[in-house]
Amino acid sequence: NRQYYLASRPVAAPTPEEVPFRDVPLQDPAAGEAVIRNMFISLDPAIRGWMSEVNNYIEPIALGDPIRSSVIGRVVKSNSELVAEGDVVISVGGWERFTTGPAAGMTKLDENSGIPLSNFLSVLGPTGLTAYFGLLEVGKPKKGETVLVSAAAGAVGSVVGQIAKMQGCHVVGMAGTDEKCRWITEELGFDAAINYKTCGDYVQAIREACPSGVDVYFDNVGGEILDAALMCLNRFARVAVCGWISTYNDADAPGPKNLWQLVAESVTIQGFVVLDYIDRFPEGVAQLAEWVIAGKLKFKEEIVDDLDNVLSTFLRLFDGSNQGKLIIRNPE
Ligand code: NDP
Repeated sequence: NRQYYLASRPVAAPTPEEVPFRDVPLQDPAAGEAVIRNMFISLDPAIRGWMSEVNNYIEPIALGDPIRSSVIGRVVKSNSELVAEGDVVISVGGWERFTTGPAAGMTKLDENSGIPLSNFLSVLGPTGLTAYFGLLEVGKPKKGETVLVSAAAGAVGSVVGQIAKMQGCHVVGMAGTDEKCRWITEELGFDAAINYKTCGDYVQAIREACPSGVDVYFDNVGGEILDAALMCLNRFARVAVCGWISTYNDADAPGPKNLWQLVAESVTIQGFVVLDYIDRFPEGVAQLAEWVIAGKLKFKEEIVDDLDNVLSTFLRLFDGSNQGKLIIRNPE
């Protein structure tokens, strides 16, 4: 079993020395466990956080353990009544060909439902659910309000913007290339897009694209974009802190400077993790699926058939060269 594991904790972008691979014999599952052959491995910015020791919403990855990821795989051996050989399941797994773990943590998927399995890692999985609950429950957009979202062409951001449009909002996205900006405005229906790499002054660019100010800022990036967004907020605006990807590879990144705007404009800022809404996942998946089937919700997945380049593929999340939800496929 080829596994990519955490040899030491990265301080910047993880290197092949910090995340090397090893080939280990496949063990039989213990009582209550099953072995799955991973078919799809989700690459998420959050994984970078779990490589660090900083307090987080789940335990850091222990040194020596495989890099943790959400996976979809086929059961090849089971020592539990909960799953049987041949079942396809979604589970917490790792950057490895096979994952052995408790069958109780594996959820069966129907591979003949007509829905591509990879969708359960993207629009119908963690990133779609993050957008759905984060926007509606934390951002609480109202009809006619302006919603600004960063990393707007990404897996979470692209879904946030489309759901905000469905709520009747003026929606502005920030993304790092003209091609991404065109996609979100021309294909996804955003009202405007800002290429933050070429726009110059962020505050001015946001004010121009949001002439009535910003009522909801859905923050995927932190850093200077957050600081600029804070300067453009309306009274009683909401900031939904979803992620701070601009800081993940830089332990010394400065914190936001403009938090006084929370006082100046009576703003609510709230962080969240999608797991806060785990009891409501069935409702979220059902709604997202309905929108996808109705053609109201579009999404992109970039599926890379190369477990052996998993680390360099993962790093593409941080240079913006991924096009939508980034997934490794390990063909059967
Ligand atoms: P994306 O598909 O959005 O990929 C990451 C994107 O972030 C890149 O494509 C890039 O787009 C942008 N980016 C990278 N570095 C920077 C930077 N320095 N400044 C600005 N933008 C940058 O990933 P996800 O949709 O999976 O994740 C988006 C965010 O949501 C992350 O912060 C992640 O941690 C968070 N998240 C939070 C969850 C929660 O429960 N709270 C759950 C899932 C995700 P571009 O070309 O536009 O720069």
